[in-house]
Amino acid sequence: MTRVNENFLRLSNNYLFSDIAKKVRKYKECYPDRKVISLGIGDVTQPLCQAAIQAMHKAVDEMAVAESFRGYGPEQGYDFLRRAIIDNDFVPRGVNLDMDEVFISDGAKSDCGNIGDILGLDCSIGLTDPVYPVYVDSNVMCGRAGISTDKGWSNITYLPVSKANNFKPQIPSSHIDIIYLCYPNNPTGTVITREDMTQWVNYALANNSLIIFDAAYEAFIQHDEIPHSIYEIEGAKKVAIELRSFSKTAGFTGVRCGCTIIPKELTFKASDGSDVQLNALWNRRQCTKFNGTSYITQRAAEAIYTPEGKRQVREVINYYMTNARIMRERLAALGYEIFGGEDAPYIWLKTPAGVSSWDFFGTLLNELSIVTTPGVGFGPTGEGYIRLTAFGSREQCEEAMQRFEQWKH
Ligand SMILES: *Cc1c(COP(=O)(O)O)cnc(C)c1O
Repeated sequence: MTRVNENFLRLSNNYLFSDIAKKVRKYKECYPDRKVISLGIGDVTQPLCQAAIQAMHKAVDEMAVAESFRGYGPEQGYDFLRRAIIDNDFVPRGVNLDMDEVFISDGAKSDCGNIGDILGLDCSIGLTDPVYPVYVDSNVMCGRAGISTDKGWSNITYLPVSKANNFKPQIPSSHIDIIYLCYPNNPTGTVITREDMTQWVNYALANNSLIIFDAAYEAFIQHDEIPHSIYEIEGAKKVAIELRSFSKTAGFTGVRCGCTIIPKELTFKASDGSDVQLNALWNRRQCTKFNGTSYITQRAAEAIYTPEGKRQVREVINYYMTNARIMRERLAALGYEIFGGEDAPYIWLKTPAGVSSWDFFGTLLNELSIVTTPGVGFGPTGEGYIRLTAFGSREQCEEAMQRFEQWKH
């Protein structure tokens, strides 16, 4: 008899976004004439830049002619895009990579979920609380997370981040094999410094650990001293995989493109004592299970590195980050405690004393018609916070702030 992968049955149902949607739907039914503004949206709203659009049109035309038609591309991605990524995102930051250390993907979520294919099932996991849920659930699905207890999954070490530790996960005192770090962070919008990152790299070097570094929001960094890549830290190529995405950087959430960096120096010992390159395993994995990102998409991604593409992408990021600044300044002026939002499109707001995430979510929905995301939905340490995103329009952002101001005064 066929049996199912029962690890899936152990997944805790994440109803966060469907619960929010349900509450918003009900609210709209009760108050059809109220204009609801969403500050909860985790998707971008501004259209693709012209440079990407033109590149896609051109690529489509190439596909219409036998001479320039492209079928299956390289599983690892086209060299033109790998080259553009290295030359524009890494070399200027002092990081040199070989082309075959860059794997083009259809987005960071898939790679972040799939990377576990090349890692032992008995590896222990460390991640922050609150956290991007994919890191947890993808490990539950393959059985690596262990069993569910009232303190979470038995094979996962949770590193709480809150106002109490200034949103800096503490370096564990014990050994962890695989550590997920996401900076700039979703959901808290906070960053860690070069010194903090160096401590993590040193921990991984000392413990033979792997860091999976999710840099999906690196393009939003405004402060020059914050590292964009973990490879800016000495020794990181020996311990880290880096995930990147064009989704938030360039509005590719619907187009789908990202990349994963696996340096060839990154090796672990097999049980026979031999050194195994993760790069080689991932290459093998991709060649078997992935047939590449579409040519049209990769041409669009390449185009964001042209001078006009860079300018256009920067403009959209500035637009979102201006939203973030407006929200930070005006909410702080009202006395709210605000975290993040300076180098990331997310603001992590402390709820008023004693008010839970869901209660404050409900109050803002009912009294201001504003949708937010309850922080506790990202993990127990997110209790007492809500997440606001800067991905909406300027008009909506301004109006939402006006509603807060009129409400408070
Ligand atoms: C949005 C996001 C990604 C990117 O996902 P894609 O699959 O590239 O769209 C990755 N990591 C985090 C933490 C995110 O929030």
